[in-house]
Amino acid sequence: MSRRRPVFYDCSKCPAYCCSYARIRVHDRDLRRLARHFAVDLDAARRRYTKKGDGGERVLRHRRDAHFGSVCRFLDPATRRCTIYHARPEICRAYPGTVRCGYYDFLSAERRLQADPDYVATTWNP
Ligand code: SF4
Ligand code: SF4
Repeated sequence: MSRRRPVFYDCSKCPAYCCSYARIRVHDRDLRRLARHFAVDLDAARRRYTKKGDGGERVLRHRRDAHFGSVCRFLDPATRRCTIYHARPEICRAYPGTVRCGYYDFLSAERRLQADPDYVATTWNP
């Protein structure tokens, strides 16, 4: 029987800060998954959904965002949920990779301090 480790963050209460990272890597396997999901060929998926990052790597394209200025093009701006959850890249599945999320710790502390459960921290400097 597999048991999931308990985690100390709740993505359902978060505005998806991690989806605002500029460098969300897309590897070949991720690209194939995206192409399958949208029923397009690899070239079309590469052009439509990715661009070259600063280091020459493939990253997800962004869109404007009211909270963070810019977020992954696949984040729903209202619900703050991933619109391609089952087709999202590996890096999104793996994040944050530990039982805590630094942004969520910060957000929770601010929400407690400000007595505002809906407060959105738009900047965070880990
Ligand atoms: S920033 Fe942390 S808590 Fe928020 S969606 Fe990303 S992983 Fe989840
Ligand atoms: S693919 Fe989904 S989980 Fe990954 S950055 Fe974009 S919106 Fe967030």
